[in-house]
Amino acid sequence: MTSKEIREAYLSFFQSKSHQIVPSAPVVVKNDPTLMFTNAGMNQFKEFFLGEAQPKFSRVADTQRCLRVSGKHNDLEEVGIDTYHHTLFEMLGNWSFGDYFKKEAITWAWELLTTVYKLDKDRLYVTIFEGDEREGLARDAEAFEFWKALIAEDRILLGNKKDNFWEMGETGPCGPCSEIHFDMRQDSDRSQQSGQELVNADHPQVIEIWNLVFMQYNRLKNGTLEALPARHIDTGMGFERLVRAIQGKTSNYDTDVFQPLIQYIAGRSQIAYGAAEKTDIAMRVLSDHIRAVSFAIADGQLPSNNKAGYVIRRILRRAVRYAYTFLGFKTPFLNELVPLLAAQFEGVFDELIQQKDFVQKVVLEEEVSFLRTLTTGIQRFENYATEHLSVDGDFAFELFDTFGFPIDLTDLLSREKGLVVDMEGFQRALQQQKERSRAATAVDTGDWVVLVDDEEGVFVGYDQLEATTQLLRYRKV
Ligand code: ATP
Ligand code: MG
Ligand code: MG
Ligand code: MG
Repeated sequence: MTSKEIREAYLSFFQSKSHQIVPSAPVVVKNDPTLMFTNAGMNQFKEFFLGEAQPKFSRVADTQRCLRVSGKHNDLEEVGIDTYHHTLFEMLGNWSFGDYFKKEAITWAWELLTTVYKLDKDRLYVTIFEGDEREGLARDAEAFEFWKALIAEDRILLGNKKDNFWEMGETGPCGPCSEIHFDMRQDSDRSQQSGQELVNADHPQVIEIWNLVFMQYNRLKNGTLEALPARHIDTGMGFERLVRAIQGKTSNYDTDVFQPLIQYIAGRSQIAYGAAEKTDIAMRVLSDHIRAVSFAIADGQLPSNNKAGYVIRRILRRAVRYAYTFLGFKTPFLNELVPLLAAQFEGVFDELIQQKDFVQKVVLEEEVSFLRTLTTGIQRFENYATEHLSVDGDFAFELFDTFGFPIDLTDLLSREKGLVVDMEGFQRALQQQKERSRAATAVDTGDWVVLVDDEEGVFVGYDQLEATTQLLRYRKV
């Protein structure tokens, strides 16, 4: 099956179970002080679970674009190094708002994986909540019973509160969850060590694919749990991981989701994917980061110097640095991936194809601007690194202030040389500068969204945009 077919099969399966298929929410979240980016399929349904709004349909399903680069879920450091955590990924999900519960959620998940996708049952494991004495919570016996009807008992594993109990926040709806894991190891390895021991143990080939959350409690302010009158289902399955399992690959990047991008990068850099670990990581980072950056921009978050905008700028600069250092791209390159990506998502997330030219221009301007100082900055860093055993805060700040190096980039460069950065010293230097420039506060571009790319306005790069705030094209929200 191709990735397109796999996505469609998911949606039509749940449609056949009376679910309404709904569109993905934007990846950029506005007006929620607790969240910058959508990091799970359930985000857009939060108010239904909190009882603040009534859903139109009691069963829905979708594919949600998610970004896990900040806050509670930050997978950025793993990306490219491992083969299954991305910055931007699609989360397939099905929901029941006070309608069906554990039995259907479990049975349908199993049916989909084993009969529609025909995943090998001998490679699947499931986990259930083991209970928690301090909370007075028993083992999830219901989930156990439903799984027992489908899968061998020794494949049902107990999980702790960290992995198998989901909470939205300090208070509110919560409940046990049951996760499905897939073992992609070769047969010879599987016969040597049982997969049970490797579930939730960061093994690169035994990975979590689907999380089924059973919302059945409400946590009160005083910390106690009460039963919810209406119980809900919230599931999330990593699309790229699912595709990998179905396509029998050992890396998400070997699937048809990422290969077109990787092959393009390989062609332009004239380095084969697979030639060396360092260049492979760089290609994975590029093919991943361009997705995050492109969708963030298409969804209204331009790179900027603060908040969500700075998160996006950091990801972009990280990608530019990998392209520059390991793949030999000394001139702008990343922006070339945008049309390819947009075409891939046609009919899935059309927001990108509609704004393709604009997104490409923004990425290009970012690249031009950062490449201008990157060479000198890296040279400064190289010289410094030969003379020092650690990176002091003032130097990290100089790289930040003069050469536009986000602190995590300096940290990455330093780690590659085995050096440690004085983060506190950096924060101190940053704070001092903030105090100096407080009087001259610039416009907060994090509050600006793209409305239309009007014909009259010529894009001159975000630096100028920030300075002049072109009201024709941007409106404060
Ligand atoms: P993991 O333990 O692998 O980090 P998780 O437990 O944090 O995953 P959930 O919050 O349960 O993930 O999200 C539901 C599903 O989304 C996961 O089962 C996984 O398939 C997928 N997923 C989570 N994080 C990522 C990511 N960074 N990149 C790709 N897929 C992801
Ligand atoms: Mg995680
Ligand atoms: Mg997990
Ligand atoms: Mg999980």
